[in-house]
Amino acid sequence: MALVNPNFAEEIGKPEAFNASACMNCGVCSAVCPMGIELLPRKLFRYVLLGLEDKVQKNSETIYSCLLCKMCEANCPAGVHIAENVRSLRYYLNKKVYNL
Ligand code: SF4
Ligand code: SF4
Repeated sequence: MALVNPNFAEEIGKPEAFNASACMNCGVCSAVCPMGIELLPRKLFRYVLLGLEDKVQKNSETIYSCLLCKMCEANCPAGVHIAENVRSLRYYLNKKVYNL
């Protein structure tokens, strides 16, 4: 069973920085992503909001494969700061998982 960390979203970034809660799961970001990153942000950011830390850690490869090109962001109808969120996730992984 997955462990839930109720403070996970706060650990990743301030609410105004990690603004994934506006996502309405429309799928546009996945459709336009040149890397075909299906997980970002629809599932991954949701994992953060739900406190599913281990699921985020298991998807670290996906988080590092993002090009930060912002194609997704430019087409997101909800104005989610996707690239900035990915940066926050990388910062978290570097610190917490890889001890960098
Ligand atoms: S395009 Fe925006 S609103 Fe749609 S799934 Fe992606 S992040 Fe969510
Ligand atoms: S910023 Fe990342 S997730 Fe968004 S379109 Fe570019 S590669 Fe895909």
